[in-house]
Amino acid sequence: MARHRAKDALVDVIARVDLDRKKAVAAVVAAGALAGAGFAGAMTTVAPVDRIVPVAATKDLAAAMTAQAQPQEIQTVHSLNTSSEARKLLQAEQIQAQFHVSEALKSAEGAYVKRQEAAKAEQARIAAEEEAKRPKCVRPAQGSFTSGFGARWGTSHNGVDIANAIGTPIVSVMDGTVIEAGPASGFGLWVRVQHEDGTITVYGHMNTIDVPQGAKVKAGQQIATIGNRGQSTGPHLHFEVWVGGSQKINPVGWLAARGVTL
Ligand SMILES: [Zn+2]
Repeated sequence: MARHRAKDALVDVIARVDLDRKKAVAAVVAAGALAGAGFAGAMTTVAPVDRIVPVAATKDLAAAMTAQAQPQEIQTVHSLNTSSEARKLLQAEQIQAQFHVSEALKSAEGAYVKRQEAAKAEQARIAAEEEAKRPKCVRPAQGSFTSGFGARWGTSHNGVDIANAIGTPIVSVMDGTVIEAGPASGFGLWVRVQHEDGTITVYGHMNTIDVPQGAKVKAGQQIATIGNRGQSTGPHLHFEVWVGGSQKINPVGWLAARGVTL
């Protein structure tokens, strides 16, 4: 009987060592899976495979992965004739260990997804806040107001002029779509932007055009630079507002109604 107990004890020890090795390998494999899912941070202190950390409580996978490695020699005895009962016990423990690792993985992945979702929600909130703060209407260019809307030199001046150096940025006054960008009679070059309500703003005499036809632009986005092309007596922006897409009105009042003074 004494011999028998000793043998059982030995079987138990071997089973335990083997189980610990399997748990540790499972933990390392699990850690690898986590790293693949973006858990690089959790990987920094994983024990090397040749210095296995016994995983007593696999429920706590994170603790197992971050635990300080303690040197422990793994001894596997290959020539033991394990009893059927010991094998069953070993299998049962292995199944349980696999279950714990799988549960810990699920829980870690769940926490990761939750953090990702929270980060996304925060990004969306910041974007919405910035969008709300963004001006809806801005000046088309910086410079001196040199000519108003109406009769001029026996003809009709259909816009306003803002003079500044060649190369000064010209921006879209509101969000919209560039419906035309290129040469135009009298304007030299022009850009026409259509806004959400159908109003078209027109920018003329520019030196360069910086957006293609069809481009979506935001209020304040550079679309061109001031130039002196076409019927122009010096570098300036000629700016028009066409309400409903065709009725040319005084841009001063239209801009003032949107909080912009020239
Ligand atoms: Zn003009």
